[in-house]
Parts: sequence; structure tokens; C-alpha cells
Amino acid sequence: MSDHVLVINAGSSSLKYSVVDASTGEPAAAGLVERIGEGEGRHVHRSPAGETETTLSIPTHEDALRSAMDAFEADGPSLADLDLEAVGHRVVHGGSRFSASALIDDALIAEVTDLVPLAPLHNPANLEGIRVARGLFPDLPQVAVFDTAFHQTLPPHAYTYAVPTDWLEDHGIRRYGFHGTSHSFVSQEAARLLVRDPSDLNVIVLHLGNGCSASAVRGGRSVETSMGLTPLEGLVMGTRSGDLDPAIPAYLTRELGMSVDEIDHALNSASGLRGLAGENDFRELSRLRASNDERACLAFDVYCHRIRKYVGAYYAVLGTVDAVVFTAGVGENSADVRAASLDGLERLGITIDPDRNSAPVTGARRISTDGSEVAVLVVPTNEEWQIARETLTVVRA
Ligand code: AMP
Repeated sequence: MSDHVLVINAGSSSLKYSVVDASTGEPAAAGLVERIGEGEGRHVHRSPAGETETTLSIPTHEDALRSAMDAFEADGPSLADLDLEAVGHRVVHGGSRFSASALIDDALIAEVTDLVPLAPLHNPANLEGIRVARGLFPDLPQVAVFDTAFHQTLPPHAYTYAVPTDWLEDHGIRRYGFHGTSHSFVSQEAARLLVRDPSDLNVIVLHLGNGCSASAVRGGRSVETSMGLTPLEGLVMGTRSGDLDPAIPAYLTRELGMSVDEIDHALNSASGLRGLAGENDFRELSRLRASNDERACLAFDVYCHRIRKYVGAYYAVLGTVDAVVFTAGVGENSADVRAASLDGLERLGITIDPDRNSAPVTGARRISTDGSEVAVLVVPTNEEWQIARETLTVVRA
């Protein structure tokens, strides 16, 4: 029996895939099909034989997955040789219904469809990926791994917004949290790195990528997280505002006549680093900042200040903290963000070692001083591996 799982992350116009050995995390091959339904599409397939890039018309998600299967046959490794055990799908919103990964059947599909109003951009694309994969791999068990599931352990006082109770009871308006697969993986890896039992560890995880979120994890369970009903709340992100005064949308409607859709678009796609500095890619922002671009410098300061506020808040939520962990594109790579976000917190037991922080190394590592009471760690996230592991756990249960 192989441990190979096909992991699928279907977006509205893209499909990311990989075949992962769930026991080692080793990817056998991976790829990305982009611009589905947009005229000329692009398909990149990476395998031990190298990387191939093709441009072709990809009208539908089914064409995208077929293109991926063709690439496995043409460029290897052959799917037959990989002897797939199951397919694991990233599903963004599992609502209150799913607190763990689950085997996909018609009932699950109906429930995920019911949750579309909570994630109108993501869940339909995830469902399309599931539909297509069930058609093309009818003999393989398929598992849904939810972004929200890890945060279902939040206590009511953390997930409840202070709004009329019928908003929650009748409409499910509460904090759900996202990036759960990453927060779960990274908090487990932190325990491994510290040679501690996860059930005995309090961790603040800072997932800083295009999307950014923080979580407080007590004994392996998420007890607080920064994203809410949707992935808009919390930290400053590439294009999303994160926290703001909830009166601002009403103000914009009254004073500027902006529509609901215009406000939604502005806060999700034209805010964050892009709104502040005209640039959402952190590497570009860093270049602008290095040339003393004023807007880029302010954007960086706002971004790090928000992280610091959450670290302070989650410290108070947890009471004692064993580790602060940085992950994802920015968290793993920007020593400047790590230094600025945690600067001056020695009284909280948090002391970064500047040489360790800026050392040009990759992989899971400690960047705090030996004397720092709270370990500061950089742990590369690996959502594909976590999805593959959870998929096999469900399939073999
Ligand atoms: P992710 O969503 O985890 O893929 O992260 C994407 C973000 O990470 C983008 O804003 C990238 O610019 C940023 N990023 C990737 N590599 C680096 C790097 N070496 N230094 C700073 N930011 C980076």
C-alpha cells in the first residue's frame, strides 16, 4: 500500500495539485494550472525530471485536471506507478459543521454547498475541484480538508461577536478562522523542534503570506484566531485591510455613495499593503522601502504594528507562552518583519537573536537567544503535507 495522496487546491481560475507521500511529506510531483476559462491558460508541472511550462486553452477545471494527468503521463512520474491511495481537497469554509477532515460523499457536498454564502469566492471553486476529481478518479476515496476546522475549538467567548444573538443563531455570524491547516501543521512542528509534547505547549502562530492570520494554540488546540466570518478580519495582508472600525462601510455608503460590492472589493482587493503602498508583493514592498519610499515605509510599519498588537493580545489570552512561530512567505523570509514585530518585548521574555534572525538559512529554526524565555521560531508551513496526512487518517479510520 502506498502513502501517495493527490492533493488538490481548486481556486476560481486556478488549480494547484501535488502528489505527496503522506508519511514523509516528500512531493513526487506538483503543478499549477492558471487562467482557467480566460483564453490562454498556463500549466507548470514540476517533477524529478524537471519543470515543464505549457500555454494552452483551458476552458474548465476538468480540462485543468486532465492537463495535469497528461503531464504526469508525459513528464512523469506515472500516476499508475505512484499507486494513489486517495485524493485530498482543500475546502475553505466548513462552517460550524466540520471540526475535522471528512470523507466526501453526496451529503458532504450538499453541506459544503449550503456554506457557499459564507465563502462565495472559495467554496464554489473547491466544489468544482471535487466534482471534477470524483469524475476522473471514481475509484479513489476523496477527503475534504477544511481551512476552518482547526479553529472549531475556539471557545464561545472567542468566536462570538457582540451583536444581536439572532445574527449567530439564524445566520451563523461568528468567527470561524482560516489557514487552519497551516496553523495546525506549524504548531505541531514547533513542538517537534522544541522536543515538547504538543499537548503541553502554548504557541502563538503568525502565518504571514499573501493572506495573514494569527492564532493562539493551547495544548494543540486553537483557542483564538484573527480571521473571522471571512478571511478579511485581523492582520494587514497583501490586498486585504484586516481590522477596521465596523462603521467605516456605512460611512462610505452614506458619504461617498459606494455600493456593497464596491466596498467589498476595496477592502478585499485594493487595501492592505497594496492600498497603502501600491504594492502587495512583499519583496517589491521591501525594495521600495529600501529606497526610502515613504508609503512603503508606512505600510511596513502598519503591518508590523498590527502583528505586535496581536502578539500582545494572544499573550494575554494564553497567560504563558512557550513559542512565537513565524511561517508562510513573509514570515519565513523577512527578518525585518520578524525583528520589527517583536522588538522591545524582552520584558515579555521574547528576545530575538539578530544574527540567528538574519542568517541566510531555510528550514525550521530557532531565532531567539538561548536565554529567551519564549522561543521564537521560523517554521516553513507545508499545507500539502498536512492535507495528505489528514486525508490518509480519514481514509484509514
Ligand atoms: P505565500 O502566500 O505564503 O506564498 O506568501 C506570499 C508572500 O510572501 C508574498 O508577499 C511574497 O512577496 C512574500 N515573499 C516570498 N518570498 C519572500 C522573500 N524572500 N522575502 C520577503 N517576502 C517574500
